[in-house]
Amino acid sequence: THFGFETVTEGEKRERVAGVFTSVAESYDRMNDLMSFGWHRVWKDHFVASLNPGFSPLTAGPDPRGPQHILDIAGGTGDIAFRMLRTAHELNGNTDVRVTISDINRAMLTVGKQRAESLPASQQAALSFVEANAENLTQTRPLHAYPSPLEPTTHDAHGNSEQAFFDPATATGGIPSASVDLYTVAFGIRNFSNIPAALREAHRVLKPGGVFACLEFSKATRFPVFNALYKEWSFRAIPLIGQLVAADRDSYQYLVESIERFPSQGEFRDMIVDAGFVVAGQGYEDLTGGVAAIHKGMKP
Ligand code: SAM
Repeated sequence: THFGFETVTEGEKRERVAGVFTSVAESYDRMNDLMSFGWHRVWKDHFVASLNPGFSPLTAGPDPRGPQHILDIAGGTGDIAFRMLRTAHELNGNTDVRVTISDINRAMLTVGKQRAESLPASQQAALSFVEANAENLTQTRPLHAYPSPLEPTTHDAHGNSEQAFFDPATATGGIPSASVDLYTVAFGIRNFSNIPAALREAHRVLKPGGVFACLEFSKATRFPVFNALYKEWSFRAIPLIGQLVAADRDSYQYLVESIERFPSQGEFRDMIVDAGFVVAGQGYEDLTGGVAAIHKGMKP
């Protein structure tokens, strides 16, 4: 395998993930549709509806209509953040909801920033972009700190230009503890080198009563025949589509393998509990027979 099941160090994994997302950033949205038959849109819609930003008493503190700060980690090209804003501002009429999109990869964020230009001005104003590693949110950089993010430069392992990713002179000082009402991460966490560290950071930045919510590929093992077909599709078709459409077989091969390696629904729920969160019931919801799952936890 390319990035396969061999043991890799945290640093190696980080470099590979950086390479993958820098290389797929431009084709990312189109490829998502092709690979999932458009299902990722349905899952994302359901994820956001289930959190009901701007209204839910679950995620909004004592006043459900009050201000809310949502941190969308590994937010990439903005799919979750834009849905959050639309639901909060338009459906729930709560314009006091602001969203921070955070990602380690500037190429993905740059595509997100361009897409955000077609949002209503009030939603654009409620949106900010920061570069950060989810495993250490004490150090962040605003995306606009760079004169021209699209300008070709030499890139480090994170796909970011060489001039100091965490330059103390321009760093914003990170996401403060207990400052976030809702932490979301969609199709991101399986790429993290150190998932327990990211969960600890999620716990740190959330206010007491704040919610951690994760949408991620999972295990469809409950229905063996469906699972066999799904595996065929993932391991054979997805790398091939990646090769044909994005001329990048390796990146899509990596994506498939990273799904295979990610813990099962129950194992991941236990990791969330170990990080100090309280979960309701079994702690997760299967989507499409477990192809994806939503996990939620509350910081007590
Ligand atoms: N959330 C978006 C969505 O659902 O469309 C983007 C998901 S994309 C599959 C995964 C994202 O995770 C990429 O943008 C990648 O740069 C980001 N990522 C990977 N490792 C990260 C890390 N350690 N910290 C923050 N973001 C990371």
